[in-house]
Amino acid sequence: MGEKSRAELSRVSLALEPQLVRALFMKAKEFDDVIDLTLGDPDLPTPARVIDAAHSAMSSGKTHYTANAGLPGFRKAISDDIYRRLGVRYNPASEIIVTPGAMGALQLSAQSLLNPDDEVLILAPHWPNYTNIVKMCLAKPIDIPSYGESELATLIPRLRQALTPRTRMLIINSPCNPSGQALSWETLNELAAFAVNHNLLVISDEVYHTITYGAQKHESILGFEGMAARGVLVDSMSKRFSMTGWRVGFAAAPAHVIGKMTELQEHVSSCVAPFSQLAAMEALIAGEEDARAMTAIFKRRCTYLAARLNGIPGISCRMPVATFYLFADIRATGLDSMAFAYQLLEQERVALVPGNAFGACGEGYVRIACTVPEEKLEQAAARIRRFTGNLKIADNQAAIG
Ligand code: PLP
Repeated sequence: MGEKSRAELSRVSLALEPQLVRALFMKAKEFDDVIDLTLGDPDLPTPARVIDAAHSAMSSGKTHYTANAGLPGFRKAISDDIYRRLGVRYNPASEIIVTPGAMGALQLSAQSLLNPDDEVLILAPHWPNYTNIVKMCLAKPIDIPSYGESELATLIPRLRQALTPRTRMLIINSPCNPSGQALSWETLNELAAFAVNHNLLVISDEVYHTITYGAQKHESILGFEGMAARGVLVDSMSKRFSMTGWRVGFAAAPAHVIGKMTELQEHVSSCVAPFSQLAAMEALIAGEEDARAMTAIFKRRCTYLAARLNGIPGISCRMPVATFYLFADIRATGLDSMAFAYQLLEQERVALVPGNAFGACGEGYVRIACTVPEEKLEQAAARIRRFTGNLKIADNQAAIG
């Protein structure tokens, strides 16, 4: 870009960081026969009952603007859904807003709460959009590594060290994209106390809360003392009901925050399409079984691929406790995560995302979205094995450890 054209662009637009997840997705499009494991977009169809609800909404004329905050009936269904899982009651009329996906909720909440130069602590590795959402407010994102037991054990002291007079907000995403890690009750309790003690706002992005495996129940920071007054709960239909394209998410927060987000929404998107809202309402009210069935499929896929990857020299992969992502440790291959991702794509036509897309602490890892059927995952594993087979893993492993 020339200096003249740069000068025309805003500070906000120039502050944006490039998105590596998209970059790999686009690069994959240059090749034939690619197994694309980049995007967090479930391949499973949206449940039929949800599609039917959209059809009948459209047929009955629900094709116009709605209130900026969303349809009252849908907001009530959201309030009930949150109450069922967290035991916290949000007033549907004043404490809930329907947004275009969780992205809309994150953007509006950040814009409503952050001032330029505010500092925002983000548990990392994390979904890269948080960085740019904070930067679009001309605020400063600060990553706090939090993956794995040893980092979690020292999380609070490291958060404390990162505090400055400008620290204003904490962003957490549990269950986490990309790591598949879910924070325990104890960790969330400590984080809640930390936020209260240091007067921080908290955005809790919980879009993966139903995609959990095994015994670990999803816990939300919003259930802890003091959180209702300072927290913004962000959630979405996208992952839970395989509805990424419908663009329906929501936020729950104190009335003054939702009020401001609603005002802002008027100037950004006005509202979510009414037939999308009514379809999402059907999903919330009647789609529990559909969501459970999808989670079972993701669990099978993740279990399968994690086992296959663990059998490949140079790769080690924990079974995630939630989400449909594997976060595989590739350090023993001797490649950094960018080299691994690009070479794998060029040589074997498997597209995945380098860990550094999720913050510097993601280096040494790659994220693999289990959003294709098992046969494809089997082929991907075979190709990854062939790729790493051509590297001198034994030498690298000796060098590392
Ligand atoms: N939050 C996280 C952690 C995500 O991984 C994603 C999508 O990948 C989103 C939010 C965006 O969800 P939505 O499609 O509801 O905007």
